[in-house]
Amino acid sequence: MYLKLKFLTVPLLLIIEANILSANENILDQYPSSDLYSSPYEIIPDVFSAIGATAPPTYQNTGHNNNLSFIITGDGVVVINSGAAYVLAKAMHEEIKKITDQPVKLIINENGQGHAMLGNNYWAELGVPILAHVDAAQEFEERGYNILERMKNYNLEKSKGTILHGPTKTFVDKYTVPFGDFPIEVLYLGPAHSAGDISVWLPEQKLVIAGDIAFHERMLPIFAETNTSEWIETWNDKFEKLNAVFVIPGHGHPTNMHQVRRYTHDYLIYLRNKISEHLDNGGDLNDAYYIDQSPYKRLDTFDELATKNAGRVFQEMEFE
Ligand SMILES: [Zn+2]
Repeated sequence: MYLKLKFLTVPLLLIIEANILSANENILDQYPSSDLYSSPYEIIPDVFSAIGATAPPTYQNTGHNNNLSFIITGDGVVVINSGAAYVLAKAMHEEIKKITDQPVKLIINENGQGHAMLGNNYWAELGVPILAHVDAAQEFEERGYNILERMKNYNLEKSKGTILHGPTKTFVDKYTVPFGDFPIEVLYLGPAHSAGDISVWLPEQKLVIAGDIAFHERMLPIFAETNTSEWIETWNDKFEKLNAVFVIPGHGHPTNMHQVRRYTHDYLIYLRNKISEHLDNGGDLNDAYYIDQSPYKRLDTFDELATKNAGRVFQEMEFE
């Protein structure tokens, strides 16, 4: 019955969605029986991730458009990101309980964005400590209300139960998870994509849960407050130096350094070079939006973000 219904409705939805939404909205929810967009899978032993849609947040993906990960440490579970809503945190917990009897002992928010923090109150109700960088906590404190309202606008009744809840503890440079069978380091590497971006580093496994310092498959967004030259510096001086073999990026499937370098670091350099040329030629902001970004055209969210990104880099570089 279910399959039949899906078979009948999908082609129609595809036609409608292709017209009104771009990016990978045409890849429909991969896990219809859960609020999660996709089901978590084990990337290396004991490290799982539920990969989000490489698309803007929508009712269909419940705002699960980033990666929600967890680590089974041998002495409790560490969850990275609480997701964009209470229902996502709860759905994640259901998945964890299917896989292990170990209790969830720590939540880590990879930054102060809605899809990292809005599900926090689910975990807070259970008394699980929630860790974030001090800047991410401040960002959420200042902008939480607007972030929540925006989420309610697309998630409608799926936003039910979500109440603003910041992290319960913060750190500045490094936090070492005090339990488990292998070391887990929570690192602030420096300014990157948004305030308080952190990476979770497993030195024995050489795996980094990068957070929003690293993107691929979809175009990265540059915000008004993003400093792309500092992002590149953090990348070169700190992120590369981890020598990670496996990367779970903030957005896009798990991959290696080569791939996230191409679509994060190299894209930032490309865009800055193009804008620099444009400035050298006396170009203004209006034309900056339309500089050639065709090498990145097949990335999801290209249509939503490419021109905006160019404008923001122009405004940043104008005064450099
Ligand atoms: Zn993100």
